[in-house]
Amino acid sequence: MKEDYYELLGVSKQATQDELKKAYRKMAVKYHPDKNPGNAEAEESFKKVSEAYEVLKDEQKRAAYDRYGHAAFSSGAGSGGAGAGGPFHDPFDIFSEVFGSGGGGGGSIFEEFFGGGGGGRSRGGASRGSDLRYDLEIGLEEAATGVEKEVSFRKPTTCSRCNGSGAEPGSGVTTCPTCGGSGQVTASKGFFSIRQTCPTCNGSGQKIEKVCSACGGEGRVNETTKIKVKVPPGVDTGSKLRSGGNGEAGPHGGPSGDLYIVIHVAEHDIFERREENLYCEIPIKFTLATLGGTIEVPTLTGKASLKIPAGTQSGTTFRLKGKGMPSLRGGYYGDQMVRVKIEVPKSLTSEQRRKLEEFALECGDAEEPMSKSFFDKAKRFFE
Ligand SMILES: [Zn+2]
Ligand SMILES: [Zn+2]
Repeated sequence: MKEDYYELLGVSKQATQDELKKAYRKMAVKYHPDKNPGNAEAEESFKKVSEAYEVLKDEQKRAAYDRYGHAAFSSGAGSGGAGAGGPFHDPFDIFSEVFGSGGGGGGSIFEEFFGGGGGGRSRGGASRGSDLRYDLEIGLEEAATGVEKEVSFRKPTTCSRCNGSGAEPGSGVTTCPTCGGSGQVTASKGFFSIRQTCPTCNGSGQKIEKVCSACGGEGRVNETTKIKVKVPPGVDTGSKLRSGGNGEAGPHGGPSGDLYIVIHVAEHDIFERREENLYCEIPIKFTLATLGGTIEVPTLTGKASLKIPAGTQSGTTFRLKGKGMPSLRGGYYGDQMVRVKIEVPKSLTSEQRRKLEEFALECGDAEEPMSKSFFDKAKRFFE
């Protein structure tokens, strides 16, 4: 029995996209494999919450899930390549958002963002390798500017001794006698005849005389691979990058699967991100709020000055245009919202106290507009 996606994320069925994202981030940080090395339970939880979020963040999939539950997604079983099921194999196509390619150029491995071609890879004799998923955590500043990261992981790689053929160098390869080289056999089942992968050659169509001593005939070996990942500016938690052909090598020289990099943007000390806008809260002195002045505020690109007009109330939000995150599609930047919080001094020298008392006396009974409006409404309680 699969767990409920909303329960997994700890949110209600009415949760907004913002709440979903927050809940997912919290869980993703808690269960991230980098933070729980070797903890299979955490890894399992991580995969579950990722799967839940990937469905719920997509309005269409969410609607389908709300109506039909998990059954909404199980019908896809017939379409997938058989026997994939690698450790990070995704149960359905979650790469349907189109980012538009055009990114950055420079011949990186990411010229293809996902949503591009996808399937359609011609299946020669041998089957295609599984897709892989790699979870990459980056900082908010890195998400803003884009970053190049080197990731390394182990995966089945084409055997260099036999070049994927599975045959010991120098030994002969002949046509598979069972299937005659087609890699498939026809089996009769009652009225139907079904074409199946040849059990003798596993679809390669070849018979190997002497098996490769490095890979045992599989044509691939587990090796640590290092890949440079070029993360474009504007990515957010859940953004995915596809690196075509960097997944598992196919067995017996088959084509490689793709590598999907799933981005996780770490929480920031100061900024909270909502889409392209950044939010922060900055304390200011009550005297500054009263008299007005200029303060320096941190932005992702350094300091900026912000004018505080005289008579600024606590909770007022100021907008720094264009100081937010770049949009992933390019072309514009979000804004930075600065909410000021007026800080009341906790201790006063006797001199400060005397002056404030003098100030209070000077103010007398004169009421400020907010107080006046409140006390007008609350009058009857004081009579
Ligand atoms: Zn080999
Ligand atoms: Zn065969």
